[in-house]
Amino acid sequence: NGLKKHFPIKGGILGRTVAHVRAVDGISFTVRKGETLGIVGESGCGKSTVARLLMRLIRPDSGEQIFDGDPVGAPRGITVAEMRRQVQMVFQDSSSSLNPRMPVQNSIAFGPMAFGEKQADAIAMARELLVKVGLNPALFGGRYPHELSGGQKQRINIARALAMKPRMVILDEAVSALDKSVEAQVLNLLQTLKRDLNLTYIFISHDLGVVRWISDRVMVMYLGEVVEIGPADEIYRNPKHPYTRALLDSKPAMDPDHRREEAPVSGDPPNPINPPSGCRFHTRCPFAEAVCSAKSPAIGMVEPHMHVAACHMQDLSSGHTKAGMVLEG
Ligand code: SF4
Ligand code: MG
Repeated sequence: NGLKKHFPIKGGILGRTVAHVRAVDGISFTVRKGETLGIVGESGCGKSTVARLLMRLIRPDSGEQIFDGDPVGAPRGITVAEMRRQVQMVFQDSSSSLNPRMPVQNSIAFGPMAFGEKQADAIAMARELLVKVGLNPALFGGRYPHELSGGQKQRINIARALAMKPRMVILDEAVSALDKSVEAQVLNLLQTLKRDLNLTYIFISHDLGVVRWISDRVMVMYLGEVVEIGPADEIYRNPKHPYTRALLDSKPAMDPDHRREEAPVSGDPPNPINPPSGCRFHTRCPFAEAVCSAKSPAIGMVEPHMHVAACHMQDLSSGHTKAGMVLEG
């Protein structure tokens, strides 16, 4: 609730703070138990910062985080350490997150051992988890990361996250580095694990197609703010925000060599150090009017079933002409 993170930029001979990148600028959202919330937006919109804030890998400037009814890090809530055990994260880069000098089953066992589990028990559990993620422990348990493919390494990372018996997993571009066919296998694995282990996911990706497939609800971010949130089907069938529409209209390249490019929306995103006044999308929005640069249309906390967009002219943007609206009104 009201999550905010501005990163200082130092400058001058004295290294004083000269400006701030407004990476996440006061956003509120809810993730329901058992659902997958997808977070989409162009590179630099703040979606990874949201993940890191939720894990407290970085401290929010302000905002409140409530986990299953308990405020995180507050006197009467749960500690950050306890929250971090229940919420695990899987990143995009499957190589750098595994210790290259450790057999993968030891990497999986590492977290539980740090929490006091005996090595033999932790390794036994790691081998069970290998089975769960579709890798034969007799073949793969003793291997080192460099002996595995990208897809196999990402399965190990998923197993490593699950070793902590989390209730929620945050997946930040977790399948983005994989080939399409491997990506599909890992996505299917994630769905199976979610069902079998009653998990809740936050799935962050720039790939709109993948997000649609895996998500129950979707949150669209632009320059550190939430511009639209709602059930996945509704967002894709009836996007309310002009930015969401632009994202969906610009077909991302299916060419494997280009698929990591962000979906192109005309014009570059403005600088998050000095974002546009009012609606931050007004510099690129075909529907912008005077009110758009004067007044921010930000949305606050919404009920999980609601579909809302931060736009002064939601009806205009869903395809009606202004004249049409006047006639209808
Ligand atoms: Fe476009 Fe104005 Fe809506 Fe922003 S508030 S998305 S500029 S119409
Ligand atoms: Mg990112």
